[in-house]
Amino acid sequence: MPDTERDPRPLRVAVVGAGPAGIYAADALAGQDDVPVAVDLIDRLPTPFGLVRHGIAPDHAKMRALRDTLHHTLDHERVRFVGNVEIGRDLGLDELRRHVDAVVYTYGAAGDRRLGIEGEDLPGSLAATDVVSWYCGHPDADRALVEEAVGRARHVVVIGVGNVALDVGRVLARSPDELLLTDMPQHVLDSLAAAPVEQVTVLGRRGPAQATFTTQELRELDHLADAVVLVDPADLELDPAAEEAAAADRVIARNLATLRGWAGHTPAPGRVGIRLRFHARPVRLVGTDRVTGVEVERTVVDAAGTATGTGEFDVVPADLVVRSVGYRGHPLPGLPVDGRSGTVPNEAGRVLRDGAPSTGEYTAGWIKRGPTGVVGTNKHDARETVAALLADAAAGTLRPGGDVDDLVDTLVARGVEPVLLSNWRAIDAAETALGATRGRARTTLHDRASLLAAARAAAAAVQA
Ligand code: NAP
Repeated sequence: MPDTERDPRPLRVAVVGAGPAGIYAADALAGQDDVPVAVDLIDRLPTPFGLVRHGIAPDHAKMRALRDTLHHTLDHERVRFVGNVEIGRDLGLDELRRHVDAVVYTYGAAGDRRLGIEGEDLPGSLAATDVVSWYCGHPDADRALVEEAVGRARHVVVIGVGNVALDVGRVLARSPDELLLTDMPQHVLDSLAAAPVEQVTVLGRRGPAQATFTTQELRELDHLADAVVLVDPADLELDPAAEEAAAADRVIARNLATLRGWAGHTPAPGRVGIRLRFHARPVRLVGTDRVTGVEVERTVVDAAGTATGTGEFDVVPADLVVRSVGYRGHPLPGLPVDGRSGTVPNEAGRVLRDGAPSTGEYTAGWIKRGPTGVVGTNKHDARETVAALLADAAAGTLRPGGDVDDLVDTLVARGVEPVLLSNWRAIDAAETALGATRGRARTTLHDRASLLAAARAAAAAVQA
């Protein structure tokens, strides 16, 4: 650790991933007074906020407003946002480590989990990550893939009963007027307005007591302008184990009460039916050239929560299938990721290589613990990691990074175009201005070229 009496050089830390976990880690570092720090908050996108920008559903305006709180950290004098830089491509992990004393990996879990069933890759079968990236305007979203499928989507089946499944089902069932209030890119609004959606079926392979969605998100389904929620009362009959689970867990009890309140609903002509179906395990996606349905097997769930097939099968018609069965993390070149969990092996945030803590390497967020919890969960998680980092710094076990060039100078010298805070502010202003042209608060810029053009406007303004 630098001796601040003789050596004013701050502890240099690179945080890889400027989503909530990375920003909370930067905040915990910048907000302490024991050690002077200089944090580079790096993201491969030209924009900060990770899943707050490209994951939280655009119709959840209050939750998305969290970016205003997160922005305080970007504004902190000890933190430098360095966007549009991909570690492992623009700068190797080893090179990065030579620039800093410690690295914190907070790049999340962007991949989708697979179902492992026949027909999974048929045209018309999309991962939730594809759909969410598209409607949030992620620069890497595959527009052609999603828009082709959404354009044909009369009957949608969403597989999984977590909050992401509800987000996707809800967005697809929303009316154009409701979506106008969001910051979705214009092409997404146009595509959803033209989509012929009549029915959205959300499939849980286990019972309603085992669903992972939360009550607020569930209740929201019943407040859509042009949709009606449908539940089969037979799906809500509980066995004694499920009754016990409901008695012991308030979320389960509230979810069940909400679902029971909808058991009398009937389809309404002209309104999208959102059907929540439980005890239905997908066994195959049906179709030859493209998906036409999902074959499901009815299940029973035992006291341990394990589903077993009953041998009763039926096919739910589908023009679009969205597989919303969880996310998983990918390795960075040079960083180990456990193949089963999709997380970086770690002990309280200290990265483990070959089972032993690796000097100067830390992790936080979904890539540390897996894709669970709400945004705020990352705050506690990042603090745990930063506490480990600062303890190692205090104990003198960090190997100081060499006195090489400044990270940004190194990147610029090799032709990379880092997006710094002023550039991000210019992007932010460009999105607000674009929104205003159609009476909206903001329209998300969704492609790298537009984002970088807006970022360059900041540089041009400084030079002028
Ligand atoms: P999740 O809550 O883990 O849900 C995954 C769902 O997929 C579960 O219903 C799971 O069922 C099902 N599933 C897994 N494998 C399956 C298979 N082979 N066949 C059929 N179903 C399968 O994950 P998520 O919805 O992706 O959400 C990730 C995290 O983000 C969660 O913590 C979530 O709460 C959070 N989030 C929060 C919000 C919000 O607060 N509004 C919004 C979005 C996301 P089993 O339980 O049977 O495995």
